[in-house]
Amino acid sequence: MVMSDMKKFKMPEETLNLIGGVDTAAMSGEAFDKLDPSNGKVLCRVARSRGEDARKAIECAVAAQPAWAALPSVQRGDILRNIASEMKKRRADIAAAVALETGKSFKDAEGETDGAISLGFFFAGEGQRLYGRTMPSATPNKHAATVRSPIGVAGLIIAANTPIANIAWKVFPALICGNAAVVKAAEDTPVTAWLFGKIAHEAGLSSGTLNIIHGFGEEAGTPIVDDPGVGVISFTGSAEVGRKIAQAAGKRLARVSLELGGKNPLVVCDDADLENAVKWAALSAFSNAGQRCASASRLIVFDSVYDKFRDMLAEKTKSLKVGSGDDDDLGPVINEKQLNRMLAAIEDARARGATVLAGGRRLDDPALKTGFYLAPTLIENAGPDDEISTVELFGPITCLYRAKDFDAAVALANKSLYGLTACVHTGNLHRAISFAQRVQAGMVVVNAGTYGSEPHMPFGGFKCSGNGSREPGTEALDVYSELKNVCININPELA
Ligand code: NAD
Repeated sequence: MVMSDMKKFKMPEETLNLIGGVDTAAMSGEAFDKLDPSNGKVLCRVARSRGEDARKAIECAVAAQPAWAALPSVQRGDILRNIASEMKKRRADIAAAVALETGKSFKDAEGETDGAISLGFFFAGEGQRLYGRTMPSATPNKHAATVRSPIGVAGLIIAANTPIANIAWKVFPALICGNAAVVKAAEDTPVTAWLFGKIAHEAGLSSGTLNIIHGFGEEAGTPIVDDPGVGVISFTGSAEVGRKIAQAAGKRLARVSLELGGKNPLVVCDDADLENAVKWAALSAFSNAGQRCASASRLIVFDSVYDKFRDMLAEKTKSLKVGSGDDDDLGPVINEKQLNRMLAAIEDARARGATVLAGGRRLDDPALKTGFYLAPTLIENAGPDDEISTVELFGPITCLYRAKDFDAAVALANKSLYGLTACVHTGNLHRAISFAQRVQAGMVVVNAGTYGSEPHMPFGGFKCSGNGSREPGTEALDVYSELKNVCININPELA
């Protein structure tokens, strides 16, 4: 695929809600500007939804859900497969929407699109495998089995960092389980969500089964969380907002799945292949401009190889190319507010005595200065309890820490409120397995990067990185379905 494919995509002038299959402006008539992170210019206007819009979307979903649930799951899977096939045909359009509204390269947007398509095919197949269990009863002449039942309407609230993956990660498992869905798109990536909704309907999804609304968190997201018509809420975003959602949903005992942030450690042992470790540390910290829940923001290095690793990584970091082209290593961050928050955190770390080894500033060369670009930033000498070491910044910033040995490295890795991903670089099998056993993280990697899982694997975190659920993989089916235990008593005399 080439950049000219990106130019063929026509950005809507105003991105509208998709309610009951119809493009719908916010009832208030309000809209907000969506800016292009690569140059700060307005990309499009976006419907600014509020409670009344959310309510209408939920009503449409409630009305559509019984007919959708009445379709055998195998047939629901056929429709999901049509959606994934249509996404494949429209791959360039989807990648263009992702690239334009995030500022990431078209190449990276294509990779993300492929992941979303693959996830669609995986959950389409789950329509043929919505397994329950049969098990022996302790009582004679009693047949016992569990079956999956839809919950009703799923409220899906997502983050902007990988927009097509984030929407696919939730919509496909929610639908295969027989739920209708209301998506609250991230305010920074409305167009990808809108396009996904269009494609789903063109591929045969009935009106009202998937509704998409745009707007800000408290205005458009909170009404979904509070609405008694929404049976399950799945949220991808910050721990701060996740906590609020859990509290609100807890009041009405609605089911909640929280996929939250991380402050992910990457440990480099004294026996590591340092070139490989540097390569993966840079990718883990800076790809997607560090806007990955899985990004490595804490690099914990054995004392004996610390200086060498630091110098190699500093050189690598300074060599990274920043921009939105396919030859660039990382693009802008999603908006100026986030960028300023990151710059303030770096200044605060400096003031506390940390050393900035690379980056640490907004890029101001003519081609980049109107965009939201932060130079990839490498820091050392930050205290492990300082804000920069404990708070997720969600940008291209990573810190180095020294550890005297393996036990100290594991202890430091676990010294976080989060527990999403973790990685160790070592040539020692015993260390690798011991690390996997002892580290508190939902995803552990040996000799590569801190990354998310694949469509058929569970992903989620320990501690403040989530609330115990796992999406996607077949584990996501447990988020979006109720289990029903069915007992059939038999009278052998009537057999
Ligand atoms: P955010 O929490 O600010 O917003 C996420 C979504 O929640 C947005 O759609 C926003 O509009 C909405 N929202 C905000 N306040 C709300 C409220 N009070 N009620 C309902 N909805 C509300 O997060 P962000 O900055 O957009 O995204 C970055 C975060 O997402 C990071 O913490 C990152 O680690 C996390 N993330 C986690 C995963 C994962 O799988 N664990 C994946 C991607 C991103």
